[in-house]
Amino acid sequence: MTLSLDWLLDQANRKLTKEMDPDVAAITRAVITELAAEGLPVGIAQGFRTKQEQDALYALGRTRPGKIVTYAKGGKSNHNFGVAVDLFIYADGGKRAEFLAPPDPRLKRLVAAMKQHQMQWGGDWGSFPDYPHFQLYDAVNGQPKPLLGPRYPGRPLFAGAGRMDRTLIRLIQKRLRLPLTGQFDRKLTHLVKQFQRQHRLAADGIIGPVTWRHLFGVRR
Ligand SMILES: [Zn+2]
Repeated sequence: MTLSLDWLLDQANRKLTKEMDPDVAAITRAVITELAAEGLPVGIAQGFRTKQEQDALYALGRTRPGKIVTYAKGGKSNHNFGVAVDLFIYADGGKRAEFLAPPDPRLKRLVAAMKQHQMQWGGDWGSFPDYPHFQLYDAVNGQPKPLLGPRYPGRPLFAGAGRMDRTLIRLIQKRLRLPLTGQFDRKLTHLVKQFQRQHRLAADGIIGPVTWRHLFGVRR
């Protein structure tokens, strides 16, 4: 059974609470959307965690029975800053969470998609790799937040689409060196298709998350 994108985003939004950095939430939603289109149903195990919750996790396998699941005390995890998510893949029609580990090609795809959006991967930590973990930056150790390109609006932009933000259309027109009319007209559709062909994307004139990323990428 294929899980619908609506269902996946609904589940994700329960974890992407208001304590989460809005950019991290938007990136996670964009990646869920992108990978759902490829048949990879991504779920969020953890988003924001309070210091108390972190302390309770830290106690597991130390002062409380269980397996050690974290090396970070309360306030020492990037989950406490709302800049980290732990991801898994839904199995059994959404009933089970499957946590991936190398050399699973699905993990490779997920990591590539997250890294396209500047996310750091816990699997790159030599001493204690944390495969489900992604973070935008290391807030615990005072790393500054990276500058990101404009945020994908959350639904595709194309000629005739409803409720489009004219500012965003102008941004796209600027990127494609067109007059800034704020209208998704035929000229813009034509140039979007041309841009998509140049980037080996499906040339449909629709700006979804993948075309958006190719248009704006990320800036530092
Ligand atoms: Zn984590």
